[in-house]
Amino acid sequence: MITKKGINASPGVAIGPVLVLDSEEYRIPRKQVEPKEVPEQISILENALLAAREEVGELRLAAARKLGNQTAAIFAFHESFIGDAKLLAEVTDLVRRTPCTSAFAFAQVMKQRQRLFRDLTDPYMKERVRDLADIEKKVLRYILGRSREDITTLSNPVIVVAHEITPSQAISLDRDNILGFAIDVGGQTSHTAIIARMQGIPAVVALGGVAADVSGGETVIVDGTHGIVVINPDDDTTEHFRAKQVQASKVAESLVEIRELPAVTQDEVKIDLLANIELAEEARYAVDCSAEGIGLYRTEFLFLASERLPTEDEQTEVFRAAIRHAQGRPVVIRTIDLGAEKIAAHMAVRHEDNPDLGLRSLRYCLQNLDMFKAHLRAILRASMEGEILIMFPMITTLLELRQAKATLADVMEDLDEDGVPFRKGIKVGMMIETPAAALLAGAFAREADFLSIGTNDLTQYTLAVDRGNERVAHLYAPHNPAVIRLMQEIIRAGAKEKTPIGMCGEMAGSPVYCQLLLGLGLRQLSMAPSDIPVIKRLIRRTTIRRCTGIARKALRFDADRQVVNYLRDELRKIDPEAI
Ligand code: PEP
Ligand code: MG
Repeated sequence: MITKKGINASPGVAIGPVLVLDSEEYRIPRKQVEPKEVPEQISILENALLAAREEVGELRLAAARKLGNQTAAIFAFHESFIGDAKLLAEVTDLVRRTPCTSAFAFAQVMKQRQRLFRDLTDPYMKERVRDLADIEKKVLRYILGRSREDITTLSNPVIVVAHEITPSQAISLDRDNILGFAIDVGGQTSHTAIIARMQGIPAVVALGGVAADVSGGETVIVDGTHGIVVINPDDDTTEHFRAKQVQASKVAESLVEIRELPAVTQDEVKIDLLANIELAEEARYAVDCSAEGIGLYRTEFLFLASERLPTEDEQTEVFRAAIRHAQGRPVVIRTIDLGAEKIAAHMAVRHEDNPDLGLRSLRYCLQNLDMFKAHLRAILRASMEGEILIMFPMITTLLELRQAKATLADVMEDLDEDGVPFRKGIKVGMMIETPAAALLAGAFAREADFLSIGTNDLTQYTLAVDRGNERVAHLYAPHNPAVIRLMQEIIRAGAKEKTPIGMCGEMAGSPVYCQLLLGLGLRQLSMAPSDIPVIKRLIRRTTIRRCTGIARKALRFDADRQVVNYLRDELRKIDPEAI
């Protein structure tokens, strides 16, 4: 039994068999085998090489047909490399000598070859290192008997263990069969963590080497509430976590009745509780969780889940579906926030040393106007289906907001000219996600119809801490006094201009912060649908008077630890179960 501690990314307990997801960084665990298993390992290897060679052969023919012989030559290199008898002999020899699994031996040999190619002076051969990495992945996929694509249709429930999962992988997973996630890297607001939370799947991230500790099939426990993962648990441990699962489902049941009740404080102030969604159909789940609307629809996930750029018509249909699922409730459609870690397969992106500070989000849209305009047209066309609001992400300068609004006005004009109907008077707002936007919130509040504080990025940029990097996760604190003072500025500026302000970062769904946020003056919070019942229970137990006192005191602390300890104490007093 191995117990590992990571970061709690999505609450709940899951117990089940492991599915290891390979990725470029994934290290195949060293696996000894009995000498009598060697022939079986060699036959697995031979079959995998044959299958991979066949696949590459087909790719070569298709490439020759579509792209000409020069492109096809790349695959000819792959084909001859895979078919090389020396390669087979070397791997087989390693399997026999050690003895180990063919996956491990193959990965070892391929790493050696890559080192060899990297040291060559011929630039053409140097370039082939990437081909070798590709070949390695392809063959390993056959050896291990699964592929990335397989995760979209799984035959039985599993716990996904991986070094890393990209947002596009996470969104294409077969949700019905994913019990939990255990991931080597990431932080609480990395997008994989957010996706897990949205879907109510327990997850632990920042586990260091968990992917190297399992090879698939072992039983694993994921305690996403406490950030614990247990590999090969003994009977007592399994029993203990099963009891926790039962307790958690009882708590969930007790929250069912609260769904029908309004989110009103004891001194009768109404708070709007909205939901964040990533996929159109999640809007239905949001309504089930009693969301009063969708406060953040992360439309980029439609792009991430698709191999090619979704057409305007396809986007329109998906946005219409989201609005329909919201059943008459308003939907804030955020324009695509691609870039940084959210890279779609069809995006032509150049390597950037600092992608979080690079050509991402609205900046990317303003430089890819055709794509952006088609996206805006789709949103506007869908607006006939129900009430929508449009929100621009990642703005740092006033000019960007003006450019985005001007582009939207252009698109509206085009639609009018084409006689295509869309709802008039749509409210246009923006996210406050950068310190620059926070400090200029007054100016933005004058030009936007509403503002929404995106604490995930605001924290990252204020504290200069990568939100997805587990090595600096201890520094990532939305309750850092620097961040909450910025939030206070934003809320004050909004109030002065009478511009509505909400929050849609993960902070909004965390019970620890709820009283602080209400005390700072927020009346609209948007969160993962499953967070709504607990937040509502808490709102119904507190008063704005009490919250104002809490915020006043919290703002006096200079250290983040003091703030969070104080907020926990204040939460414990009125809702100990939410801690
Ligand atoms: C945020 O940054 O707080 C936010 C809500 O946007 P995302 O998490 O999609 O970056
Ligand atoms: Mg953001």
